[in-house]
Amino acid sequence: VEITDASGYSGHADQVFAPRHEEEIAEILTRAGRQGVPITVMGALTGLAGGAVPRGGWAISMRNFQRLEVTDGAARVGAGVLLRDVQAAAAASGQFYAPDPTENGSSIGGNIAANASGSRSFRYGATRRHVRALRVVLADGRIVEYRRGTPVDFEIPQIPLPNVRKFSCGYRLEPGMDSCDLFIGSEGTLGVVTEAELALLPAPGEITGGIVFFRTEEAALDAVDRWRSTPGLRLLEFLDAHAMRVMELPHGAAVMLEWEGEADLDMSGALEEESWFGSSAADRERFRQFRHRLPERIHAHMRRLGLVVVATDYAVPLEHNRRMFHIYREILSENFGDRYVLFGHIGDAHLHSELLPASREEFERSHAVVTELARQVVALGGAVGAEHGLGKRKARLLHLQYSPQHIAAMRAVKQRLDPANLLGRGTLFEGPAI
Ligand SMILES: Cc1cc2nc3c(=O)[nH]c(=O)nc-3n(C[C@H](O)[C@H](O)[C@H](O)COP(=O)(O)OP(=O)(O)OC[C@H]3O[C@@H](n4cnc5c(N)ncnc54)[C@H](O)[C@@H]3O)c2cc1C
Repeated sequence: VEITDASGYSGHADQVFAPRHEEEIAEILTRAGRQGVPITVMGALTGLAGGAVPRGGWAISMRNFQRLEVTDGAARVGAGVLLRDVQAAAAASGQFYAPDPTENGSSIGGNIAANASGSRSFRYGATRRHVRALRVVLADGRIVEYRRGTPVDFEIPQIPLPNVRKFSCGYRLEPGMDSCDLFIGSEGTLGVVTEAELALLPAPGEITGGIVFFRTEEAALDAVDRWRSTPGLRLLEFLDAHAMRVMELPHGAAVMLEWEGEADLDMSGALEEESWFGSSAADRERFRQFRHRLPERIHAHMRRLGLVVVATDYAVPLEHNRRMFHIYREILSENFGDRYVLFGHIGDAHLHSELLPASREEFERSHAVVTELARQVVALGGAVGAEHGLGKRKARLLHLQYSPQHIAAMRAVKQRLDPANLLGRGTLFEGPAI
């Protein structure tokens, strides 16, 4: 069976299972253990890093895990439930599920496995912060529930963590960490998440949003720096000059923002007349869709050319945001002219770049270029994976982020939970050392 994720990366599974109960998963894992068959867990396949794409062996689709129960302050959610359904159920009860990866057709299991975030994590943090409990089937077939605070029952080494606001590159290891934190962001390599208890917040009062256009990128970057500390600001996103072209708009750059309550924003340098503002849920949805259309258009372009998506997902310490922007500009323009975009979560110093190569030859060069960008990110103290995970496509970057000793410490954790290395084989650990 051929399986492809949203980046266009494909592989195959010898067999695909769609279990309905944890016991079935336990049985599949035990059988796989006996026969030495690798297992890949699949959510909604909106990932961009190839983590859910098998390279042979068996695949487990989580689509039948559809429990969705909302109570006061929490939701009990099966791994296969789509983010948009959790958001809708929370809203229907006057509450709010804060994480908002713009791809709301992703599954909660996938969000947990990648520690997904999104634009509102500027205020509310990534998925990790909103998980209260997890149910997991382990490689040996045990079915466990971990609540927040359940200690990990073996010694966890300390690895240095980059000073960034978003993190999804390898295991986040800290002595004293709890078991939920071990599985969040582990990209399907330590166990199969079947269900989660997620925290819901009371729905905020009035929210105003907008897309503010600028004549130049520098004016937009100045506004970002001015607005970043505005009380109540919950979203601060950027679209560069090339993105304006892809979206067929005549402007130099755009900043998307949302704030709760009143805010007094200094609009100097903005094209205020041309900008869009609104405070209804429908307005905000329109802005979200506009922002989401940018990567979707690029992905469609890549599909037409038969190429996989080349998207970077690096974050740097806040103070290096502008420096990083200029490094992207310099290196990407030198290699690709204007055939790329810079966009995304600038409030968290986490811009994505995506390439629009004109030819296969140009595409071939992208590998070396995005690796060079990752080197620069690490030199600035940043993270080479912020919200998508490294999966298989970016596993090589783990070697840029960590020393061999730190990678060995992560592997020791993996070995402990999955001694035969069956879960998510090829993800995180099997990239060539660079
Ligand atoms: C247009 C577009 C925009 C996007 N924007 C964002 C964004 O703003 N923020 C963001 O964070 N991401 C974004 N993404 C990436 C993607 O949506 C996220 O990575 C999402 O979390 C993946 O969820 P999924 O259910 O599709 O997982 P999949 O792609 O199916 O799997 C992703 C990883 O999780 C593992 N996994 C899945 N389910 C489980 C489970 N139940 N137990 C254990 N492991 C599991 C898989 O093995 C794989 O390693 C975007 C993607 C697209 C296409």
